[in-house]
Amino acid sequence: MNQTTKQGLKKSPAKTRGAAMRAQKRNHDDADRAMERYADASQHQSRRTTDAADFTNALKVTFLGGLDDVGEKNMAIIEYGDEAIVLDCGNSLGIDLPGINYTVNDISYLEAIKYKLRAYVITHGHLDHIGGLRHTVPRYPAPIYGSPYTIKLVEKAFDDLLTDTGQEYTPVVMTAQLDTHETFTLSNSFSVEFLRITHSLPDAAAVCISTPVGRIIATGDFRLDPEPLDKMPSDTKRLKELGNQGVLLLLSDSSYADVEGRVPTESTLQQSFYDIIGNAPGRIFVAAFSSNMNRAQMIINAAVAAGREVALDGRGMMSYAEIAVRQGILKIPKGTVVSIQQAASITPNQLLVMCTGGQGEPNAALQRMSDGQHKYVNLNEGDTVVISSSPIPGNEVTYDQLSNRLKKIGVHLFRHPTHEVDGCGPLHVSGHARRGELREMLELVRPTFFIPVHAGALRRSYHAELGVEQGIPRRNVILPDNGDSVYITPDTVVDGGQVPHGSVLVDQNGGIVSGIVVKDRLMLSGEGILAVVLTMDKESGRLLTSPDIISRGFIAMKDNEDLMKHFRDELRRAAAQRYKRISLDEFKAEIREYVIHFMYEKTGRSPIVIPVVNVIGKASTNTAAAHKALRSDQHVKNDQQRYAAMRARLLTQDQRD
Ligand SMILES: [Zn+2]
Ligand SMILES: [Zn+2]
Repeated sequence: MNQTTKQGLKKSPAKTRGAAMRAQKRNHDDADRAMERYADASQHQSRRTTDAADFTNALKVTFLGGLDDVGEKNMAIIEYGDEAIVLDCGNSLGIDLPGINYTVNDISYLEAIKYKLRAYVITHGHLDHIGGLRHTVPRYPAPIYGSPYTIKLVEKAFDDLLTDTGQEYTPVVMTAQLDTHETFTLSNSFSVEFLRITHSLPDAAAVCISTPVGRIIATGDFRLDPEPLDKMPSDTKRLKELGNQGVLLLLSDSSYADVEGRVPTESTLQQSFYDIIGNAPGRIFVAAFSSNMNRAQMIINAAVAAGREVALDGRGMMSYAEIAVRQGILKIPKGTVVSIQQAASITPNQLLVMCTGGQGEPNAALQRMSDGQHKYVNLNEGDTVVISSSPIPGNEVTYDQLSNRLKKIGVHLFRHPTHEVDGCGPLHVSGHARRGELREMLELVRPTFFIPVHAGALRRSYHAELGVEQGIPRRNVILPDNGDSVYITPDTVVDGGQVPHGSVLVDQNGGIVSGIVVKDRLMLSGEGILAVVLTMDKESGRLLTSPDIISRGFIAMKDNEDLMKHFRDELRRAAAQRYKRISLDEFKAEIREYVIHFMYEKTGRSPIVIPVVNVIGKASTNTAAAHKALRSDQHVKNDQQRYAAMRARLLTQDQRD
């Protein structure tokens, strides 16, 4: 009996060869499944494309991304004749793959139409709408059009590109004033007008794209707040005018098409902040979304009224605020803001820290402050923490974990979802329209054709039904998937098939990571890795040293010494039996299979097995490599020393176990 039982490992001699191989396959299949939704264009089977020759006078609208989730890499392409424009160019955040920061769209399709490309039209500055630009525009250059705040964020993204990767690129940008409905001619066929719309960051826009076939209105992300804090409501008047003149196609935000009613107006939150911040003793920490400047303004207003100084923390929050201050969007009285370094030395009841991390994001400021890991300020018993957000779908668990941790520290906690129980007013409103506002948008625009965008199939289908209820003929409401295109004429819409599309994975440094690499990482994270290093004597076929074994994430070798000894003995025997019989490649394959079976039988686990075979000694004279036999003994000796050093290195690495 081996010692593995003390690790709780199985000792089942009845495990068959088939079961071991099935376990390996299962690992592969699990990793494949996890990677499936992040496949690039080469891995997608494209549906047959419609013959474009039949649609020379039609508008072609293609969705590369943005239709699968809320906050997914939005990007659509609008083509007419030999001209094309790109509408939004985002990235996807919250990607749950090891070492991956975000994904962007696979833009293989742009290669085919690059001669047509005239413009990038951007609705607003959230990353799911601009985060792909730095990967796309340098390869397929064209001017980028957007509102003042959006364009500043775009320029910032290219500054970051230089900092992150050393790549220098200065895009051509065109800034559109929203309140004058500034209109740009983009090409012979296309012009664009920008209209103000309320969302959750400054200067969000709906765009009206005029084409030879008709107008397209893309709402961008929006809600229809009649009383936003900045007193700059959506331009419903102009939307209605355009609706009266006739709109061919409406692309509208579906994020909350599953929620009845309207989003409460943002102004309702101001009093909640005055109440909490005006009355709390000691230090106050407020976590909010970093790009929401109206929210930042309310928090700062309340801090100033309470005689508190404000420290901003989190890289994102600082840069959004800096641009907003420079553009006169965020108004902060002189002397209010202090650096986070200074925060530690300020009297507790005169300090408010505004930070990121309200969703429980692992590396954000609030998380580090709650772990005692923040360089300058950490949370203590008696502090007040205000979380000015609800969990974004998918973040519910981290949101709750953060709240639990904060409570353990003993802070006074105010969160939006529990605000009534916490004894305060509401602390958050969403930036995305509910059904009441979606209905209003459909009524204002009254389009011939309607495509619900932004958010997955479920919410888009609710939005589609709403369109039908509002009187759009069902055949004119279209629900494409990512990669799909449609041809639109003034009175028809035809399926245009699929274009190459998919995801490209990007790491923390902005580098592209191959899907194969990430698949390997997933498999390693499943059952770990076991490397066996065999040093063979070419002449005798014997092992020159005891097999070296390296285990990572599989079993702790120190706790399984008997198993490892048994394994080494068996491996030595297996190697000696096989080595002379077969070619080196076959030998490696057989050793790999042998190790898989052995370990599965002994442990019930199936790690990735990597055999490394070093062959030492004179080559036999009857091979094609006969000349190697002439190598001096000195060479052989050198080889042996080299391998001994390598072996020592590998073994010292193993000490980490
Ligand atoms: Zn969005
Ligand atoms: Zn947005």
